[in-house]
Amino acid sequence: RNFTADQFSGVAQDEIEDARPWCEILRQWATFHPEFAFLPRKFKIAICGSKRDRAAVAFHDIGLEIIKDAQGETAFKVFVGGGLGRTPVIGALIHDCLPKEHVMSYLDAILRVYNQLGRRDNKYKARIKILVKAMGAEAFKQKVEEEWAHIKDGPMTLTQEAIDHAFTFFQPPAYEAIDAAAAQSALDDQRLTDPRFAAWLSHNVVAHKQPGYAIVNVSLKETGFAPGDITAEQMEAVAELSEQYGFGELRSTHEQNLVLPDIRKTDLFAVWQKLDALRLATPVIGTLNDMICCPGGDYCALANAKSIPVAEAIQRRFDDLDYLYDLGEIELNISGCMNACGHHHIGHIGILGVDKKGQEFYQVSLGGSQSNDAAIGKILGPSFAQDEVPEVISKLLETYVANRTEEERFLDTYRRIGIEPFKERVYA
Ligand code: SF4
Repeated sequence: RNFTADQFSGVAQDEIEDARPWCEILRQWATFHPEFAFLPRKFKIAICGSKRDRAAVAFHDIGLEIIKDAQGETAFKVFVGGGLGRTPVIGALIHDCLPKEHVMSYLDAILRVYNQLGRRDNKYKARIKILVKAMGAEAFKQKVEEEWAHIKDGPMTLTQEAIDHAFTFFQPPAYEAIDAAAAQSALDDQRLTDPRFAAWLSHNVVAHKQPGYAIVNVSLKETGFAPGDITAEQMEAVAELSEQYGFGELRSTHEQNLVLPDIRKTDLFAVWQKLDALRLATPVIGTLNDMICCPGGDYCALANAKSIPVAEAIQRRFDDLDYLYDLGEIELNISGCMNACGHHHIGHIGILGVDKKGQEFYQVSLGGSQSNDAAIGKILGPSFAQDEVPEVISKLLETYVANRTEEERFLDTYRRIGIEPFKERVYA
């Protein structure tokens, strides 16, 4: 599959280095590469270039985290064997500071070991995560190092010229010189004129590395619409906005929203008005209602249960913005079967559709995380009927609110008090 990166690559304020040129270098390496033609199963690589991991690197076959070494040179942490689906695994760190010039040869060595030793007799056991788990991360790393020793300083060693060339494809656009202080003060005035704009500004707009600019999340999470859905007319209109107010660029996120990466702060009010008219400005990014939801039984032949009606029932139940904002950052992810396209394992709250004697039921898990503190959620207990799910979520939230300390996110409280208080409240 293609390489993925942080949706804010190149514009994020917390960026260490732009991940996109590295994706491009590795795309060129992988395209028509014989090792890729011989893989036992699909293969996914993600690269994160920011302090906060927004690319879920621990849940890819190979995850790369860009760091700076002791000399300030670009290097990579290399994770291998992560994934979701029926066997969720957190990737193992097998190199904590790989010099940038060796990234191709090191990944090549990983693929060689996987191709040599990965299972091909059973498609459910053929992913690299199964191999790494079976061998143990240390033994896998050892094999990779042995293979790497043969190719380490060969033709796959990247020259600075080759790296610089990849960066030429991702030059910053022609940003205008904006009086950032004046733009900010105008924005502060506009914020006071309309509380809805103020809410959108606080939740859907992200700081940009270029003074005077902002990153806009286009929310696809209006209650009553399937999370992540957008109509052709809305899409045309957003494309036009990207040209009128940006540099013609739109990005999609695995949280099922879109991103306008380069909006002048002076245009934010106008952009909000247009997105609001398009119903694409629901100010819920990062909250419970910004959920990830797979198509589930409404559209997917593999589903055990429907996902979209569950998402909608939760969104309707918690449609009070003040309550959502008080709850703070919560990730809720829903999948209609164990294939986990809705990433339920790594939601702070995960919901999985299961088949119980031909009936659609839902299993709830807690404590997953897709970020730097990667974790796989723990199952709460016996599953629930569809109409029980919103009440279950409500009880989980009440438990959190009753136990949280100031500034503690749902996930932090869960980690501190464990699953038992949540269990007791839900199954009381
Ligand atoms: S998780 Fe299952 S139901 Fe949902 S889209 Fe994937 S395969 Fe289909």
